[in-house]
Amino acid sequence: MNKINKSIELYKEAKLHMPGGVNSPVRAFKNINGNPIFFKKAKGPYLIDADNNKYIDYIGSWGPMILGHSNPKIIKAVSRQLELGTSYGAPTSIESDTAKLIKKCFPSIQKIRMVNSGTEATMSAVRLARGYTNKTKIIKFDGCYHGHVDSLLIKAGSGVSTFGLPDSPGIPNELAKKTLSCEFNNKDSFLKIFNKVKNDLAAVIVEPIAGNMGFVPGDKSFLKLLRKKTSENNSLLIFDEVMTGFRVSLGGAQELYGIKPDLTTLGKVIGGGLPVGAFGGKKKVMDCLAPNGPVYQAGTLSGNPLAMAAGSTLIKLLIDKNPYKDLESKAKNLLEGMKEIFDRYDIPFSTNQIGGMFGFFFSEELPSNLVDVENTNDKQFKKFLNKCIDNGIYFAPSKFEAGFISTKHTKTEISNTIKIVEKILKEGI
Ligand SMILES: *Cc1c(COP(=O)(O)O)cnc(C)c1O
Repeated sequence: MNKINKSIELYKEAKLHMPGGVNSPVRAFKNINGNPIFFKKAKGPYLIDADNNKYIDYIGSWGPMILGHSNPKIIKAVSRQLELGTSYGAPTSIESDTAKLIKKCFPSIQKIRMVNSGTEATMSAVRLARGYTNKTKIIKFDGCYHGHVDSLLIKAGSGVSTFGLPDSPGIPNELAKKTLSCEFNNKDSFLKIFNKVKNDLAAVIVEPIAGNMGFVPGDKSFLKLLRKKTSENNSLLIFDEVMTGFRVSLGGAQELYGIKPDLTTLGKVIGGGLPVGAFGGKKKVMDCLAPNGPVYQAGTLSGNPLAMAAGSTLIKLLIDKNPYKDLESKAKNLLEGMKEIFDRYDIPFSTNQIGGMFGFFFSEELPSNLVDVENTNDKQFKKFLNKCIDNGIYFAPSKFEAGFISTKHTKTEISNTIKIVEKILKEGI
């Protein structure tokens, strides 16, 4: 059992200054009734907390630490840029370098705009879709999270499910009415709503592999239907790959499924640990953005040189290494090892992984939508998670979040994790 006295003290202090003591709700550990751990450094697959406890990290800053923490090449690139200035509020060549690297991996992206977060990317993509099509309605899917954008914070999984808010106060009904949410992986649910609103449908937005209701890949035939119907209807298809872009494969989920969306949103990995988002797609759609077109979008720190230096360095390393098969086989080893123990203790447990992303559920069968995930065993999840964290295994503290593995997780970390899982189940959950 780790002692976390400093984290407890620091959390008390933080609560005096910030709502819930955090700057993003899931960090408060409310879902597992725990005390959040405060960190002071990280290296490779490990996090070190304020009490000097060491954790094997399976969150990786929710994706960006795909090559492990404190990658020396990224540190070097950022340090070099630091000396040259941190922001100019004017163009730099690193922005084009980064854009070119992303375009190389995402053939559906002909032009791209950098922003500062995933939320900003989806917000801007929705505005662009509405401006381009001159229509107003958006279809999304229950449990898909697209950032805390007013128009998209409807049945949004993840943090929102964690806190039991189906949507949030502060979003006008008039606006919420423009967003319709259907069941993920359910063609009939989609077609019913599509047929009702198609005359005013600007876009369908989806996480092709959902990572905000646990880890739930879309069915290929379901995603293909979305592509077909939006094309026929002159509505845009937006793939939200903020989490999956450069995480499940170099070209994201769209590469794995062989489906080209009209617009793609990116974030997380593309910033290499600094705050970056981006949205891009067909040239004729993107050229509707200011200053070329009438759809306004801007950002004081967008394309920030430090962030671009970190992001472009990481993307280059990923292109060189193409680590996705290796990441997937590591994730598989981890999950198979865990599953074998859960089976021995007769606890229903299901697992799944693609590239560097994975999920596990306290259920007999893998969930295919939000309701399935809600129905997985909550009590066992919470007990298990708290014990993992007590024992230095840092899994996401909510059953509505995915898991992430890095190239720095070796056989040692994986077998140590499995040993601790065995110890936890032996004690009982
Ligand atoms: C994390 C995430 C977002 C929001 O990104 P932020 O950088 O947190 O604003 C949007 N969409 C998906 C799929 C995400 O996973």
